[in-house]
Amino acid sequence: MTKILVIEDNLANMKLTVLLMQKAGYIVLSALDAEVGLTLAQTEQPDLILMDIQLPGMDGLVATALLKQNPATRTIPVIALTALAMKGDDERCRVAGCDGYIAKPLHYPALLAEIKAQLAKRDSLSFSIEPNKEESPP
Ligand code: MN
Repeated sequence: MTKILVIEDNLANMKLTVLLMQKAGYIVLSALDAEVGLTLAQTEQPDLILMDIQLPGMDGLVATALLKQNPATRTIPVIALTALAMKGDDERCRVAGCDGYIAKPLHYPALLAEIKAQLAKRDSLSFSIEPNKEESPP
């Protein structure tokens, strides 16, 4: 079963996203802030993380950067969810290490398609990368 961690501080958004993910057949873990999210990412090793960018305390970009610096969580794909939808937002997300980016309001078919694409990418990478080989930039 595929496990998805949703990090989102807005309760209404969280409920909706969790329902949708469950309906799509995923196991869903939820965190209302980045600190809890980082802990769950490490202990539960989800297959993918949906990361709201605007969070109280630590924001989603900082949290993503920390996930990507940690060898225990760096390979977990992170899809950023942002309400900002500003020019340059996409770039800021990628610099922080996000693998994908979806602007709110969420368009659920697009979100599900992005999740499937990221999971497929991760699966193909885990088959092609030799475990002891050092990662080098493309
Ligand atoms: Mn938020």
